Amino acid sequence: MPCEVKPRFVLLYGSQKGQAQSIAEGVAEVAEEHGLVAELSCLSHNEKYNLEKEKSPVVFIVSTTGDGEPPDNALRFVRRIKKKTLSTDHYKHLSYALLALGDTNYANFCNCGKTIERRLQELGAKQFYATGYADDGVGLEVVVDPWLDGLWKAIKGALSKMASDRTGYLKGEAGDSPQETPDSSIPDVQLNLLSIAERQNCESVRASSHGDASVSTSAPETKTKDTGVSISRAVQLTRGDSVKMALLLELDISVSLNFSKPPGDSFDVFCPNRGTEVEDMLRRLGLHEQRNHRVHISLRKDNKKRGAQVPPYIPQNISLLYLLTWCLEIRHVPKKAFLRALVEHTGDAVQRRRLQELCSKQGTADYNLYVRDPSLSVLELLSAFPSCMPPLSLLIEHLPKLQPRPYSAASSCLRHPGKLHFVFNVVEFPACSGRPAGRRGLCTGWLFDLINPVLVFPGKAESSGSPALPKIHVSLRPNCSFRPPSDLSVPFIMVGPGTGVAPFIGFLQQRYEKERQENPEATFGETWLFFGCRHRNQDYLFREELEDFESSGTLSHLKVCFSRDDQEEEEEEEAEAATTISAARCKYVQHNLLLHSQQITDILLKRNGCIFVCGDAKNMAKDVNDTLMDMIKTELQVDQLEAMKTLARLREEKRYLQDIWG
Ligand code: FAD
Repeated sequence: MPCEVKPRFVLLYGSQKGQAQSIAEGVAEVAEEHGLVAELSCLSHNEKYNLEKEKSPVVFIVSTTGDGEPPDNALRFVRRIKKKTLSTDHYKHLSYALLALGDTNYANFCNCGKTIERRLQELGAKQFYATGYADDGVGLEVVVDPWLDGLWKAIKGALSKMASDRTGYLKGEAGDSPQETPDSSIPDVQLNLLSIAERQNCESVRASSHGDASVSTSAPETKTKDTGVSISRAVQLTRGDSVKMALLLELDISVSLNFSKPPGDSFDVFCPNRGTEVEDMLRRLGLHEQRNHRVHISLRKDNKKRGAQVPPYIPQNISLLYLLTWCLEIRHVPKKAFLRALVEHTGDAVQRRRLQELCSKQGTADYNLYVRDPSLSVLELLSAFPSCMPPLSLLIEHLPKLQPRPYSAASSCLRHPGKLHFVFNVVEFPACSGRPAGRRGLCTGWLFDLINPVLVFPGKAESSGSPALPKIHVSLRPNCSFRPPSDLSVPFIMVGPGTGVAPFIGFLQQRYEKERQENPEATFGETWLFFGCRHRNQDYLFREELEDFESSGTLSHLKVCFSRDDQEEEEEEEAEAATTISAARCKYVQHNLLLHSQQITDILLKRNGCIFVCGDAKNMAKDVNDTLMDMIKTELQVDQLEAMKTLARLREEKRYLQDIWG
């Protein structure tokens, strides 16, 4: 019987948190329905694809992480294609389409996708379908859904064009030379469609080292090189009834962590899901009785999902409790694809219809309003749909890996040998429809509960006999560029409102302890710090330390603004401090930057200085960026485009650096 061979295309993804991967897997899954075979592969598995020889269309789906960086599993690919030695016709034979995922709340939107695209074009590749730039800031699906709708026609068009180009080439130019094998003759290995099945062992096996989720802080059994360190001090930095609660934790890293690099690094904290939520989830899935059973996860023999694999972050032989406590992000905000999958496990017709509405194109506004914007978790969503009984396998398929949370080091190892400080706000999610009571952020809420019994409050003496503090698991995340300039004469500006001041405390401690003490005769570049908070007397973090840095000359200019202090009170205080009235009108860091526009632009544009921005990505970093752009426009008398180019150049030269989150 003749064997039908479907045309193939190559599908490559680079994914940090699993979104690009899950979109790529979705594409691979439905390819067959469109009469195509997708060869799905992660960009890091370069043994599975060969772009140098690829004659079929190639589809890239890539996200961007951090300060415009490629996801970890795309880093080597990006490095490879950026090599200057590659010739301009290196990818002349390649036809590609690209879907870039990003978030406009961060600078360098979709930078990884843009970098790959730029290089592919520089190396001669041809685009067969317009690039999609999906913005997580407004909902990826706004761009992803229509882009995917149009992809199939585009791939088929590319396939026929490539086939006719090849025929033309073979007829017209190949002459007697051995003919290239046409695509359609390459046998495609059709994989079974895969999906995940779970099976619980009927013997109740107590997971020896995993303990009870609600109390255990034992390390997750992942391949990550994490280290257990003790918390040696916990201090509340905010005072009174400040809206946000900022805490400083000191970790004792003397025996376990080699952290002696200059400040600027951040590190990951591994936190478990909340014990009560894990228990609720187990009950909701009807698996509470089996909580200590071991879970065996394998791919079903009849599975249909192309490229499916058991998630590598789920170790073998773990208990169900461990799986939900350490491996899956059960607070994840369900995507539309997850809602779609829940429909068939929902008994009640009205609830089924509502789920269908929420995941439909027309339901986007409702989805955003009720699910996405309030960050509704899966568990919260399930309680609104009591007749929905998803199997565990569906959760494993749709919930991403429980990610550790990064924090910026807020100390220099020279000032605090063997110790590592970090500062965070306890994140609060208010009650909303779908969430009867407010809840705290996962990691910050967990840390708060851990240290609450031993927390030291502002102005109160620390008791010497405080009870032993718990251990937490951390691992280093080196950041090679967010560092104070090594040339001491280079002036630099730090912008860090709220907890964004954290790395700058490390920068200044380093400068004070090492550089100024060791080189009293050296010429030091100016240092500026722009800090902002709500109230002078409530959340002015590190006030004393910053004022000391200013009086010692370590910090040349300390510019602070308060967004919620009463204007009159503010003006009085500022007048007392003999500063200008206009300074009193500054609410946010960007206003203060503008006020010192001349000095800032002078440092950046004439004196080869640097600017570091740290903290909230959603508002602050964007506003600071816009303000810098305005300042450059005014100072250089150039238009928006030229100002953008100047900022881009500063970024490229690593003189405009961001460490932002939110
Ligand atoms: P989750 O349960 O994960 O909820 C987070 C969600 O809450 C976000 O999706 C966002 O929508 C919302 N949210 C509301 N307020 C905040 C907020 N202030 N921060 C983050 N998300 C918020 N945080 C610090 O407080 N101090 C630091 O020094 C610090 N350094 C970081 C360095 C890097 C490189 C990165 C990427 C992030 C850093 N963060 C820092 C953010 C931190 O990793 C966590 O995201 C934050 O503490 C919330 O974690 P959570 O588990 O409590 O909240």
